[in-house]
Amino acid sequence: MHGEMQYLEKHEKLKTHPKKILPNAKSIIFLSLNYYQEKQETSEGQIARYAYGRDYHKVFKSKLKKLETYLQTLDPKAKTRFFSDSGPLLERQYAEKAGIGYIGKNTMVITLKSGSWILLGEIITNLPLEYDSPSDENYGICGTCTRCIDICPTKALHSPYKIDANKCISYLTIENKGPIPKELRPLIGNWLFGCDLCQEVCPHNIRQKVTKEPDFIKKIAGHNQDLKQILEIKTDEEFLEKFAGSPIMRAGRIGLTRNACVVAGNLKRKDLTPQLTKLSKSNNNIISEHASWALAQM
Ligand code: SF4
Repeated sequence: MHGEMQYLEKHEKLKTHPKKILPNAKSIIFLSLNYYQEKQETSEGQIARYAYGRDYHKVFKSKLKKLETYLQTLDPKAKTRFFSDSGPLLERQYAEKAGIGYIGKNTMVITLKSGSWILLGEIITNLPLEYDSPSDENYGICGTCTRCIDICPTKALHSPYKIDANKCISYLTIENKGPIPKELRPLIGNWLFGCDLCQEVCPHNIRQKVTKEPDFIKKIAGHNQDLKQILEIKTDEEFLEKFAGSPIMRAGRIGLTRNACVVAGNLKRKDLTPQLTKLSKSNNNIISEHASWALAQM
């Protein structure tokens, strides 16, 4: 159920074998970083909260680097590898074992203190450290709740703890480099990049506090993007200038233009007919087909 994310398949043998990533690995230090920000309603293209500011890979890595340096001052022989959603390790399952939180039916790690609006980072080390032992009392943290499964528009969350990436709005608008299946397009609504629905409805997220991380608070993409401006980006250089340092870069110019066509069609934005008509004649098949689809929705 991993769509075209073949790297997940390629790394399968490493996912549960930290010693294949760092020989002599003895411990893994897990960390979580709150990225929560208040939701702002928008009638333009909506962005998932993790992507309002600077790319979290960069933000987390600079923190992990500092911790790595500190470990090496404790023991100059310390060997380390660190990752934040950038390595093959099965992060959520190890984070659960480390006591960060528990995996919910929406497949996210939920912390008791601040819900699921967190990012994960880890350092694998050859140092034998004192281990945390998570208590068993909060396993099955979801109880009888099924809110995330009920709200998922595409039914990507098809059963508890299982997600089909092929239907997930986050996958379709970010990792997917091809066309978005026609039957799923109307279900995407105004999500231009990513989706937060399965977290927004989660009762464990009620008490979440806004992040204090300056790199997340300082907006690059922000909570929304003007569709007209996205549809008028003509070159990769213009795209880079607008989104350098942002997670939006992951979708690429073609992917984001494709998404903007879908949102424009779903919102029946007749005012964008000139931009869509121009894009429907694009040399790029993905852009031209999605722009034509959007025009047909008017
Ligand atoms: S919405 Fe309910 S079922 Fe889904 S992760 Fe949260 S508590 Fe669990």
